[in-house]
Amino acid sequence: MVTCSFEKEYWNFELQKDIQFKCDNESKSESDKCIFHDGNLLDNEENHKIIQEEFQKKIDGYLLNGSDRPLFCIGYHLYNINIQGKEFQKSVYFDYATITGSLNINSHFISHVSFSPLNSLEGMWTLDTLNSLEGM
Ligand SMILES: [Zn+2]
Repeated sequence: MVTCSFEKEYWNFELQKDIQFKCDNESKSESDKCIFHDGNLLDNEENHKIIQEEFQKKIDGYLLNGSDRPLFCIGYHLYNINIQGKEFQKSVYFDYATITGSLNINSHFISHVSFSPLNSLEGMWTLDTLNSLEGM
C-alpha cells in the first residue's frame, strides 16, 4: 500500500501546540494522494457523489469502531457534508478543509471541533454543534 503524501501543520487541541498531521489513508494509483486529499477529483462532477459517499462511510466507520481517537479531516476536499444526530467523544479536526457544495452538521461534539481556516465554502452552511457547557 502506498500512503497518501499529504502533510500539514495544525493546532492540536489535546496537546495545545502545533503539530504535523500526516495522512495515513491509501493513495490512489493515479496520484500520490488519497481520494480526500486529491482536490483535482472534485473538478469532475462524476466524482462528487463518490467522495460524498466515501466520506459518509468514513464517519460511520469511525463512530462504529468506538471512536476513541480524534477524527482527522485536515485538508480534506469534500462535497456536501451532512452529519446529523451523531455524538463525537473525541476531537474532530476539519482544519484547512475545502468543502464544495453544502455543509450541514447537527451533532454533538463533546471534546472539540475545529474548522479554521475553512476554504472556499459555497452554498448552504449550517453548523449546530449542540454543545452544552456541562462538564466543560
Ligand atoms: Zn490523504
